[in-house]
Order: sequence, then C-alpha cells, then structure tokens
Amino acid sequence: MVLTDEPLLRSPGLYLDGCWVRPVDGGTRAVHDPADGGVLTIVDEAGPADVSTAIAAARAAFATGDWPATPKAERSALLLRIAELLDAHRDDLARIETADTGKTLRESHLDIDDVIAVFRYYAHLVTIDTDRLVDTGNPAVISRVVHEPVGVCALIAPWNYPLLQMSWKIAPALAAGCTVVVKPSEVTPLSTIALVRLIDRAGVPAGVVNLVPGSGEVVGAALTDSPDVDLISFTGGASTGAEIASRAARHVTRVALELGGKNPHLVFADADPDSAVDAVLTGAFLHSGQVCSAGTRLIVHASIADEFVAELARRAAAIRVGPGRDPASQTGPLVSPEHRAKVEAYVALGLSEGARLVAGGRRPDDPALAAGSYYLPTIFDDCDRSMRIVQEETFGPILTVERFTTEAQAVALGNDTAYGLAAGVRTADPARGERVVRALRHGTVWLNDFGVYTPAAEWGGFGRSGIGRELGPTGLAEYQETKHLWHNTAPAVGGWFSTG
Ligand code: NAD
Repeated sequence: MVLTDEPLLRSPGLYLDGCWVRPVDGGTRAVHDPADGGVLTIVDEAGPADVSTAIAAARAAFATGDWPATPKAERSALLLRIAELLDAHRDDLARIETADTGKTLRESHLDIDDVIAVFRYYAHLVTIDTDRLVDTGNPAVISRVVHEPVGVCALIAPWNYPLLQMSWKIAPALAAGCTVVVKPSEVTPLSTIALVRLIDRAGVPAGVVNLVPGSGEVVGAALTDSPDVDLISFTGGASTGAEIASRAARHVTRVALELGGKNPHLVFADADPDSAVDAVLTGAFLHSGQVCSAGTRLIVHASIADEFVAELARRAAAIRVGPGRDPASQTGPLVSPEHRAKVEAYVALGLSEGARLVAGGRRPDDPALAAGSYYLPTIFDDCDRSMRIVQEETFGPILTVERFTTEAQAVALGNDTAYGLAAGVRTADPARGERVVRALRHGTVWLNDFGVYTPAAEWGGFGRSGIGRELGPTGLAEYQETKHLWHNTAPAVGGWFSTG
C-alpha cells in the first residue's frame, strides 16, 4: 500500500507556530507497512533546533497568546470542531491507522470513534465549573481554589494506539488551556500528522499545537531535557518512562507516565465457560497482543484448567491472521520485523524456561504473508511466576497459563507483578467478584468483561505501570495547576511587629 497521495499526509510534515515547514536540522524517514514491509510514505522529522522552535512557539502562545485565557466555552467549541472534522474523515483516518500499525480496519474504526468521543468528552467536561469556595472561619475572607493550565506540555505517544493515545493527551491539554508540542512514535507517525492537519483546519491559534515527528533519541530527548517544558505526558515502555522521569527530574519538570502492563485474567471454576474463553482469547490476541492492557496472563482454577486451555488452544489456532485491510483478517501483523524478533525471542525464552507450547509458537505458513511481520497466536501452559515470560511484558500474541486452587492464591498470583495496569476476573459469584476486584492492585479491574473503557473513567497504572491517570476528570487535572486565592475584603493592621 502507498499513502503518498493521501491528502491528509501531504508533506512537509512539521507544524510549528501555525505553519507547515521543512525541518531545519532534522531529516526524513520511510514509514513501512507492517503487512508487507513496503514503504507507505516518507515523512519529515525534526532535529534539535526544530524542537527548540516548537517549544519557543508553544511558550510564546502560552505566555503572550490568548489561549490560556480563552473562555472555556470557546475552547470547548474548538474541541467540538475537531471532533466534527475527525468524524468527517473517519474512513481516511482508519485507512491510515491500519496501513501504519497493521491493525484491522474494524479496530481502527473503533479507535477513531473513541478518539472522537474523547474530544467530545473534554469539550463537555471543561465547561463544568470546578472552582471551590473554602470556609476559613473569617467572614471577611473569600477563599477560592481554582484551576489553571499547567503551561507548555510535551506529548509523547507510542506506536500501538497512535491516534488514540495522542488524543487522550491533546484533548484534555487543549481543554485546560495548555499549549503543546506533539511527538508521535517514529514507527507510526501518520495518523498524528493527519490529526494535526485537522486541528489546524479547525482553527487552533498559532503556536498552541506544534508537531515534531522524530525519534525518541533525538526529538524525545530534546523535549525531555528542555527547561522550558512544564509537563511531559508520556505513554510507552516502562524503561523509557523511567529514563524520561530521571531526565525530567533535573529541571523538576512534571511527568505523567502511562507505561506497560503484564495483566492477569483470573478465571474461577464457576465462570460461564463460553464467554470466559471468548474474553481470554480477545484479551490476549486482539491487535496481536500489542495492547498495554492485554490479558496475557491466564490464572485459571485447576479444576477446569485442562478443558479450558484445550478449548483456548483450539480457538487460538483458528484465528485468521492477515493484512488489516482484508475484512477476512481477525488480527493483523506485528508492527515491524524488529518487534517480531523480540516476540520470537520471548517464545524461545519460554521454551527454555520449561513452559509447554500448546498453540502457535511460529510464523504463519501462508506464503502470501511471508513479507509481513506476522506471528501466530501463541499459548504456553504449565507456567509459573518464576518465569520471565510470566513477569515481563512481551507485547506480542503470547498467553501464559498458571493454575490456582484457592481465592487467596488467585489474588496473590494476580498481584505478583511489578506492573499494575489492568486485570480481569470471571466468576458467577458476585460476592467473590467484589472481594477479588477490590483486592487486585491494578488501575482498571474488569469483572466478567475485559478491555473495555470509557472516556469518563480514569485510566492508568499502579506500580511500574505509571504515574498519574488519563481520561476522566483526573485526566484533565493532569494539565492543570491548583491555585489558592485568598481575598481579604476588610484589610486591617495585623500588629505582629507593632511598635507600640
Ligand atoms: P517506547 O517507550 O519505545 O516509545 C514510546 C515513545 O517514546 C515513542 O514516541 C518514542 O519515540 C519515545 N521515546 C523513546 N525513547 C525516548 C527518550 N529517551 N526520551 C523521550 N522519548 C523517547 O514504547 P513503544 O514501543 O512505542 O510502545 C509500547 C509500550 O507502550 C508498551 O510498553 C506498552 O505497554 C506501552 N503503552 C502503555 C499504554 C498505557 O495506557 N499505559 C498505552 C499504550 C502503550
């Protein structure tokens, strides 16, 4: 597939201070189609000087522009215009996202719908007054707690949900009155370039949104090291998050981190078997497992485990792996040959650790798929918590299986991870369900469901899965400073240093 004629992706690709420009000290990068390895298009990438220009434009728009003081109703109206444009280009954006990430068109359409919903949600939320009056006990004092934009925000996103993850940042940042510098993943920059084109068309003031595609090492590091950035909002891997946090600490720059997960899916013996198998399969293999909240760790009651795993293996082997643009495909390729090599190394590791392969464990045989980065849904049985494939995020279509016999053991296994992003529980017993979802130390816990979310509820992780929350009111608060205003309406001499 070739996207060079795509109107939403016309070069040049840096958007600085309201203009589309060529990089001053950056370069270009070929963006590849994971379905067949071909070149989709060539994009411009920023260099350090371009990043400085972007930050300076965002700083000027924040310090001397109108955006932070623009009435909330006008900021809300801009978000709604962006949502309308996204809606009008839903199919174009889905096509671009599928070409760039490899995910199925059905998934891309769902992503775009969620992106639109996020812009609409923050357009609504920002109009709600959250200022608070405080009773100081002194009737002469009016004490108020108000919220103001944090300032210049660097927004750094990963490759697995490029448009969705970036929208979870851009929408609340603009709603709050911040100005932003946007850096998509160098692996999948295309839908973000298209989004910024639509934001430009929606009439965002110059300097409020700036786009600097490029690598983490060059563009990401330049953003992270800048003393003129007030907040770095990052979604990506845990080790990159730790690196960003430590570099940001030198300037005491705020960080918001959405990192990885190794998410347990607990299945009790009384769970409805059909929906449980279906949910475990979808949780593990949607988008070929390249999902931060993928349920990659099945923890199943020993009394049903053999039958449950056999059915899972049968169903996994029947998943139709193929190009995302083919409606017959149920899941697409991995994002790149390099990423597939990492997944293959984890499969080799699992075998060497003694796990028993019961499904997949190899590339598909179909010669028509040979040029793409495909990998079959893979299941390892007989796993235990000492194995690295049970503890580390593989970010591919690999499901590990552990068994339990008591509720306490299931909870202990579910919490036995350095991460804490998401977990699922399946049981027909509501009392047990409530006990277990409260005991699990994860940012989102689903009971008899998996992988679903809503823009109105917070998303984020315990432990190594991150710092802070996106979505919901907390997702807006990430982009706000809290200020206390104390107004004495009857000033009088205090007399502390009275000379009398
Ligand atoms: P990554 O950490 O390799 O890269 C993420 C982004 O950071 C990219 O834009 C990259 O260019 C940039 N980057 C890399 N090094 C940098 C540096 N030194 N300074 C600044 N920026 C730098 O992650 P990835 O491989 O793109 O994405 C996969 C990871 O993202 C997985 O671990 C996944 O779990 C996580 N993720 C988390 C969530 C969540 O909501 N918690 C959502 C999606 C993905």
